[in-house]
Amino acid sequence: MTHAAHSPADIAPETVTVTSTRVKCDGASEISPALGHPRVWLEIDEKGYVDCGYCDKRFVLDGGHH
Ligand SMILES: [Zn+2]
Repeated sequence: MTHAAHSPADIAPETVTVTSTRVKCDGASEISPALGHPRVWLEIDEKGYVDCGYCDKRFVLDGGHH
């Protein structure tokens, strides 16, 4: 068996590109609205990204392509 695996389990946690360092997350998405959680505000630091502690969604600051 040499076929490439493309199972959904191989997909990394959802990544969202944003243009502000302050983002909110409530876990809801078009893909899985059932994954909601209390709304939280996240602050992107100098690393350029922040991960939501509830749903592991990663918010990446789009600051390198001006
Ligand atoms: Zn979240």
